Amino acid sequence: MRTLPIPDEIPVAGRWRRGRGTPLECIDPANGDVIAKLTAASPADVDEAARAGATAAAAPSWRDLLPHERARFLVRIGDLIDRHADELAELQTRNTGKTRAETRALASSAAGTFQFYAAALETTETPLSPQRGPYLTMSVPEPIGVVGAITPWNSPIASDAQKIAPALAAGNAVLLKPAEATPLVSLALARLTVEAGLPPALLSVLPGKGSVVGDAIVRHPAVGKVSFTGGTNTGRAVGHLAADKFMPLTSELGGKSPTIVFDDADLDQAAAGILFGIFSSSGQSCIAGSRIFVPEPVYGEFVERLVAGAQRLRVGPGTDPASQVGPLVTFAHRDRVAAMVDRAREEGANVLCGGRIPDAPELTGGAYYLPTLLDGLSNDARTCQEEIFGPVGVVLPYRDEDELIAQANDTIYGLACGIWTRDYRRAWRVARRIDAGTVWINTYKQFSIATPFSGMKASGVGTDKGRDAILRYTRQKSLYWGLDEAPLPWAR
Ligand code: NDP
Repeated sequence: MRTLPIPDEIPVAGRWRRGRGTPLECIDPANGDVIAKLTAASPADVDEAARAGATAAAAPSWRDLLPHERARFLVRIGDLIDRHADELAELQTRNTGKTRAETRALASSAAGTFQFYAAALETTETPLSPQRGPYLTMSVPEPIGVVGAITPWNSPIASDAQKIAPALAAGNAVLLKPAEATPLVSLALARLTVEAGLPPALLSVLPGKGSVVGDAIVRHPAVGKVSFTGGTNTGRAVGHLAADKFMPLTSELGGKSPTIVFDDADLDQAAAGILFGIFSSSGQSCIAGSRIFVPEPVYGEFVERLVAGAQRLRVGPGTDPASQVGPLVTFAHRDRVAAMVDRAREEGANVLCGGRIPDAPELTGGAYYLPTLLDGLSNDARTCQEEIFGPVGVVLPYRDEDELIAQANDTIYGLACGIWTRDYRRAWRVARRIDAGTVWINTYKQFSIATPFSGMKASGVGTDKGRDAILRYTRQKSLYWGLDEAPLPWAR
C-alpha cells in the first residue's frame, strides 16, 4: 500500500485546513493502493463556506468587476490548468482508473471551458425591450450569490469546470462537492484557482459523503442554486429539496442511450464508433451507448464485428499508454456491474463476450471487468432499462423504423443517441423523433463547450454548457425607467 504525499487539507471559506468531517481514503482502483487520506468536510464546514462565500460574492472587489476584469481570473485559471495538465491527468488516472489519454483530454477540456467562459463574458448583453409606454424597460442579470456544484466521479475535472467557470463568470461564489471517492483532482484545481489570484472564499471544495455534505449544501439557506450531475435517484431527492426552497436546480442525470445502425451505414465506421461509445471510460459514462439497435438483415454479420472488436480491446491500468479499458472506479462498483450481468443471465441474456472479471494475473489486484456484449433480451428487460454504468452493452435487433423508434424511446431516460447511416434525410427524420438531449450522427461522444447539453425525461432538467450557461447562474431583474415628467394620472 502506498500513500501519495497529498496534504490532508481542503479549502473552506478561504483557508486551507483539515475538514471537520469523517476521514476518507482515496484508492487507486488499478491496484487497491491507498493514494491519499483526507478528512472530509462536515455540515459545519458547509455553513462556514456558504457564509464566507456570500460575503466574498457581495464584496465590491468581486461584485463590481467589469466583464473583462472577471474574465482575467478565468483566463489565468485556464492557463494554469493547461500548464499542469499532465499532473492533473496523472492524479485523475490514479484516483479514477481512467486511461491517461482520457484524463489528459479531460484536463484540456477543463482548461478550454475556463477560456470559453472568459471570452463569453464579453458577449453577454442586457436587452432593452421595445417601448410600450412612457417608460423604458431593460432586464439585467444579477449574480445569485452562492451556488452549489455537486459532481460525480466519472469525469471530475471536466464536470467541475463546466459548473465553476460559468458560475464564477456570472459573479457568484461556488461550493464544490466532488464525489466522495474522487476528490483529489478537484482539490488540485482549487489550488490552481488560488495561484490564479481568485479571492479564496469564492471557491470552497467540500469532499465527503453526498448524504451529509451534498445534502447540507442543497439545504443551506445561503445557497441560491445547485447544479447537480449524478444518478437519477439522487437527482430526484435533490430536486425535492430544491423545490421546497424554491431554488433553481440544473440536473444532469443518468442515461440508457440507444445507438442505432442502419443497413446502409459504413459498418466499419459504425462498429468502431459503437465500441468507443460503450467501452471508452469503461462504460462509466452517462452518455454511454448501451443499447445497440441493429437491423435484422445485417444483424449476424454486424454483431460478429462488434464482438471481435470488443475482444481486441486492451484492458489494463490507465497509466499504461496501451490500455483502452481501465479499471472501474471502485471495487464496490465493479461488483455492482458484475451482479447486473449475472441478473442479465437470469433474464435470459446470451453473453456474446466478456461477462466476467478478467483472470490475467496482472489484472487480479484491480477493479477490472471485461468489455461485455449481451443479446437475446427484449427492450423491456431490466438489463435494457436500468443504467449499468460499466462496460456492458446490449444488442437488440429491429425490423423497421417505426418499431425501432418505439423501442429506442421506450425508456425513462432521454440523454443521448447515436445514428449510423449514409442517408442524411433518414438521419434527420430519426434524430428529430428520438427523445434525447444530444444526437450524434456518424460519430459519438464528441463534445463542444459551445454547444448546450441537457437531458430529456429522467435524464435531467435544465442545460449546461453553451454561452448562455452564464445566464443560468444569474437572477433576472427588470428595470422600468419612467420618461414622463407628469405625475401618474391615477392619484391626481
Ligand atoms: P450519485 O448520484 O451517487 O452521486 C453524484 C454526486 O452526488 C456525488 O458527489 C455524490 O456524493 C452526491 N450525492 C449523493 N447523495 C446526495 C444527496 N443526498 N444530496 C446531495 N448530493 C448527494 O452518482 P454517481 O457518483 O454514482 O455518478 C454516476 C451517475 O452520474 C450516473 O447515473 C451517471 O449517468 C450520472 N452522470 C450524468 C451525467 C450527465 O451529464 N447527465 C454526467 C456524468 C454522470 P457521493 O460521492 O458521496 O455519493
